[in-house]
Parts: sequence; structure tokens; C-alpha cells
Amino acid sequence: MGKVTGFIEYQRSLPILREPKKRVANWDEFHAPLPGDALQTQGARCMNCGIPFCHVGQTDNGLTKGCPLHNLIPEWNDLVYHGRWFEAYKRLSLTNNFPEFTGRVCPAPCESSCVLGINEDPVMIKEIEVAIIDRAFEEGWLAPNPPKQRTGKRVAVVGSGPAGLACADELNKAGHGVTVFERADRIGGLLMYGIPNMKLDKGLVDRRVNLLAEEGVEFRAGVNVGIDLTAEDLKQNFDAVVLTTGAPQPRDLPVEGRTLGGVHYAMDFLTANTKSLLDSRFSDGKYIDVKDKKVIVIGGGDTGTDCIASSLRLGCQSVTQFEIMPQMPERIATHDNWLGSVRTFQVDYGQEEAITLFGSDPRRYNTLTRRFIGDEKGNLVGLETVEVEWTRENGKNALREVAGTEKLWEADVVFLAMGFVGAEKAKFLEDLGVEYTDHKTIAVNKAKQTSVPNVFAAGDCERGQSLVVWAIADGRDAAKGVNDYLKGN
Ligand SMILES: Cc1cc2nc3c(=O)[nH]c(=O)nc-3n(C[C@H](O)[C@H](O)[C@H](O)COP(=O)(O)OP(=O)(O)OC[C@H]3O[C@@H](n4cnc5c(N)ncnc54)[C@H](O)[C@@H]3O)c2cc1C
Ligand code: SF4
Repeated sequence: MGKVTGFIEYQRSLPILREPKKRVANWDEFHAPLPGDALQTQGARCMNCGIPFCHVGQTDNGLTKGCPLHNLIPEWNDLVYHGRWFEAYKRLSLTNNFPEFTGRVCPAPCESSCVLGINEDPVMIKEIEVAIIDRAFEEGWLAPNPPKQRTGKRVAVVGSGPAGLACADELNKAGHGVTVFERADRIGGLLMYGIPNMKLDKGLVDRRVNLLAEEGVEFRAGVNVGIDLTAEDLKQNFDAVVLTTGAPQPRDLPVEGRTLGGVHYAMDFLTANTKSLLDSRFSDGKYIDVKDKKVIVIGGGDTGTDCIASSLRLGCQSVTQFEIMPQMPERIATHDNWLGSVRTFQVDYGQEEAITLFGSDPRRYNTLTRRFIGDEKGNLVGLETVEVEWTRENGKNALREVAGTEKLWEADVVFLAMGFVGAEKAKFLEDLGVEYTDHKTIAVNKAKQTSVPNVFAAGDCERGQSLVVWAIADGRDAAKGVNDYLKGN
């Protein structure tokens, strides 16, 4: 708890974001930290509710309730309120390996589960989390701390996203020798090549990776397991293997004109963009340049928002975003979704920037793309949409096109950001002998063990495309499973 009467005395303050016009001029992070005393006041709003739900971390009908990492939120809120930042950091690091990532990119299901949020604005949690860890780094509280003893066991982690990094961190702390293999040229998975720099500065990813390396984790970037290293190599050289390979298969839109020049998967755009930014600040030209172009993003989720924000920074002429679903309501009654994180209408950072630059929200709802239109050279010049209506049929959502609502749009570039459809069916996974679920993810039990006893899986490859916070939680669970397995428990 914070101050007994804090929730009555103080209002929730909003996170500080840099001004949209200024922030689109560069690729720097758009968050700005709240001053320490303001954070103490926010911590004071944590109200000793008796039975907090903010830390429960469960899924209910696909919705997350509370923090999947079971962060001890009321405890560190109280410590921050009393200015005991070091202890707050110690408390936070008990449950979260990388608060500097979640504190920046997590959608904060904890705040949707805050009891104060039932009839007031919830306690500010995410901003306090990031402030604790940023201060801990500034103060030098995170010196390398390698394990005192080694077990002699060796574990291979395939994939270096948040699941792989959390798993490697935990296994290394337990004294096992850990090697992380990553096919990309930089470590970090979607933390590095997915989430854009303005949301998560890549220097922060490198800082954490360097710390893990100093503590003894071996990182091998540029190694594509299955090509540079076989399943047999893994079996021969390691006591256990953890697969944290993500769920990168994008959903396609196989309509007329799909192969025209100018129609790209969102991830091809975002990955190349960050790589070119980091390698050469775009001077190598190895990115999809949308300067002065008309951009259409198909898909209304976070990936689509990241495409909008990146296109604006590259100087696009216009940007429009199609969402096949209707606009979400502004509020959902608490009793309809008891303390769960629900999707309500939000203006995310990319849309806010587009509104500031172009004067209107770029989103168009209930919009289905029928076909892409090209010129004689095979390049995209536009597309055709039709409006849709949603009804309930046999207990399921059903979609119907509305006659007479067809519309043509000019477009030079289209980004497909319609979600992901599961893990890669790589040959080396077949060779290892792992099985899949009906959802095209790797099948695991509660200990994150696959059908092969010494092969484990964690994160998006077994959960499906999800969130950084879940990936860290899954990586920690897999590390526990591996540790138990290696100790013969
Ligand atoms: C554009 C985008 C924006 C997002 N924004 C957010 C956000 O704001 N907040 C949030 O919480 N979540 C966000 N997410 C989701 C989040 O990034 C993922 O849920 C999370 O990164 C999953 O972690 P992971 O470790 O399971 O896999 P990943 O991060 O996908 O990492 C998997 C890694 O495995 C590597 N790999 C795969 N196969 C091999 C192989 N054979 N050999 C070697 N390496 C291999 C891949 O190269 C990759 O680096 C976003 C996702 C995307 C796509
Ligand atoms: S990791 Fe996410 S859910 Fe957990 S406390 Fe932080 S912001 Fe909340």
C-alpha cells in the first residue's frame, strides 16, 4: 500500500510523452520520465485494497488479468512512496528479469486489474516500474553477478527474444552453462527487430545483453539453427535445449494483385528499417523508403501502429489504416469484464502523431480489402475496399459485405499487419521430434517441456504471438522446468 488516504487526495497523472510534432522528427524514445516526487505521489495512490488482483497473471477467455510475472506491485508502490528506491528495485527484480522492457512496452494488464480502477482511475504501475529500473541502472545497482558455482550442465537456447533472454538469465543464475543462438545479426528478437526504436531504444537491449554476457551467458548471433547447426549437433553438445523461436509467420491477404511491387509484410518493413537505422542511420539505403509516398496499413493492431509511426518518421505523404473490425467502445462496464484487460477505443502513439500531422485519425473501420490495383509495370497504384457488417451467427461473429460501399484508394505502398499465424515448421524442429498443437504452436506441458524430455519451449513459439511480459514469464517457467529436469526432480 502507499498512503492510506492517497487515493482520495491524489489524482492519477498521465505518462509524459514528447510532443508528437517534435517526436516524429527523429527515432528517439517518445516517453519522458515523470519526476521522482510525482512518482512518489502516484505510488501513494496504491490503497491497501486488501485483496489485490494486479499481480495475479491469469488468462480468462483470452484476456490477461493482472501481471503475468506476478510482480509484487503493492509492495514496490509502497517502497517508492517512502522513497526507498533500492528496496523497490530489489523487490521488482525478484519477479521481473527485464523491467526496462516491460516498463516501456507492456500494455499493463495490471492496471486494468487494479481495484481502485473499479470506480476511479487505476494506480499508475507501468511508469513506476520503469522509473525503478532506470534509477537502478543510473545508480549502478546492476553490477554483473555471475553464479558462484557451475553445475557442469549445458543448455542451448534457440532464439534471443524476451523468452530466450529470461530463460538464459534464470538458467545461468542456477549455475548451468547457457549458449543462446540467434539467426539475426543482433540479439534481442522482436525487442531488437520488431518493436521500433522510438518505443524501445535498442541501446537498452544491448545494455541488458552485455550484462548477461558479463555474467556468463554465451551469445552466438548470426547462427541459424537448422542450417548452421543441426538438431543432432544440439543433442550431442547440450544436456537440454530450449526453443524460444517466436511465432513469426505473418497472416497473408491472398487477393488479386497481392504480388504487385509495393505490397509488403509489416515485419519486412519494420525489421529492415531498424537494421538500417542502427547500421548506418539509413545511409545504406537498405530499407523500404516511403518518403513522399501514400501508405496504407492493413491491420489495426500494435504492429500496424508501429508501421504508421515509422512511415511518418520517414516522411510519407499520407497514411491510412484499415481495420476489419468495428471501432471499439470508449468504455466497457466493469461488471462486464471484471478486472480484465479489455480492448477499448484508444489513440495510440502512431495515430496521435498522424492526427497531429494530417489533422485526422488514420483509421477506417469495418473495411475489407478486395483487391490491389497495379500499373503496367507491376507496381501498386491503389486498392479497392468494401465496407462490412458484423453479425452473430451460430454463436460466432460473421462478416457480410455491404453492397454499394465499394471504394478505390490511391496507394504507393501497402503494409500487411494482420497478425501472425503460429510458429515456423522448421526442419530442425521435426528432427528434434517436437509436436505441434492445432494452433500451429509447439506443444508443451505445464513445465514447458515438449514431447521430447530434454527439449523445452517458451514464449510465442508455444503460446502464439503475444506480449513481452508473457514471453518473460514463459522463459522463467521453462528455466524452472529445465532446472528440475537437469536435477532429476
Ligand atoms: C511489430 C511488433 C510490435 C510489438 N510490440 C509489442 C509491444 O509494444 N508490447 C508487447 O508487450 N509486445 C509487443 N509485441 C509482441 C512481442 O514482441 C512478442 O510477443 C515477444 O517478443 C515474443 O518473444 P519471444 O522471445 O517468444 O520471441 P521473439 O521475440 O519473436 O524472438 C524469437 C527469436 O528467435 C530467433 N529464431 C527463430 N528461429 C531461429 C533459428 N532457427 N535459429 C536461431 N534463431 C532463431 C528469431 O530470429 C528471433 O530473434 C510486438 C510484436 C511485433 C511483431
Ligand atoms: S510487467 Fe506489465 S503487467 Fe506486469 S507490472 Fe509491469 S506493466 Fe504491469
